[in-house]
Amino acid sequence: MRVESASGVSTRPARGNNDPMTDSISLPDHQWPTLEPGWVWLCGAGPGDPGLLTLHALNALRQADAIVYDALVDERILDWAPEAEKIYAGKRGGKPSAKQRDISLRLVELAQAGRRVLRLKGGDPFVFGRGGEEAQTLVQHGVRLRIIPGISAGIGGLAYAGIPVTHRDVNQSVTFVTGHDQSGATPSSLDWAAISRGSQVIVIYMGMIATGAIAGALLAAGRDPAEPVAVVAGATTPAQQVLETRLDRMAADIADSRLEPPAIICIGRAALMRQVLDWQDQLAGAAPRDLDPLRRGRPAEQG
Ligand code: SAH
Repeated sequence: MRVESASGVSTRPARGNNDPMTDSISLPDHQWPTLEPGWVWLCGAGPGDPGLLTLHALNALRQADAIVYDALVDERILDWAPEAEKIYAGKRGGKPSAKQRDISLRLVELAQAGRRVLRLKGGDPFVFGRGGEEAQTLVQHGVRLRIIPGISAGIGGLAYAGIPVTHRDVNQSVTFVTGHDQSGATPSSLDWAAISRGSQVIVIYMGMIATGAIAGALLAAGRDPAEPVAVVAGATTPAQQVLETRLDRMAADIADSRLEPPAIICIGRAALMRQVLDWQDQLAGAAPRDLDPLRRGRPAEQG
């Protein structure tokens, strides 16, 4: 097992800019949409690093007068909307269904009160984020909305650990899986044997409380015990940590490492690419490592 902190996840200001989080950032010239009173924009904030927001998200922050945000949204992002009322709608585990309804109804209330509402969710709102449910509740109440996608942790978070979620030598498909359902249990509805057979790379969200069950199910389905695994906790934030391990030791190593959620678990040989592509390491001063972790020759040599 190897755990590395992200020395390089930079919060350094951009050159010539003393405090980029509070200085106003002007949007480039474009026909940006207007957030009208009574509308809700359901927007992904990305996995953490404020630089991973989209321009649509920034445009929304500029106009919203009420922002309803999740636990996974980096609060530095809210500094870009100094005037807006910030409403925390965090929920982690527990009994989400009742609370989820409250959040959706709060959005309806705010919209019906004529507010310009920004619903800001971690990552992408439609990836394991219940964004579809919230949007549907809004529609049911006649509230108009716009959806602004975001960078999902299972793609962008892995990229910050130097892991390409697809690589020609590794996988032609990738499966995104949630590690627990609303009751907190490993989703019994998932056919782990089929996932194991059909997907060379498996990316698990919300997997930290069910690591033993997930690894057990994959091993029972015949997955290679030595298969590489990377766990990226706090991806894209200054607290990012990466654990490199293998499938049969995954649960024990995660427990020993004391890594905390939120974390993304990547199972598959794509995780090996980190040996070459750990660009955070280079920000911290390491020299590029010209290794060949997949033992397939260099890309240029393959034609
Ligand atoms: N909509 C979000 C996912 C919400 S589910 C998205 O698209 O990214 C919450 C899970 O996302 C967490 O349990 C964790 O598995 C993952 N996650 C979100 N932010 C993360 C981060 N910064 N680092 C690692 N995992 C993260």
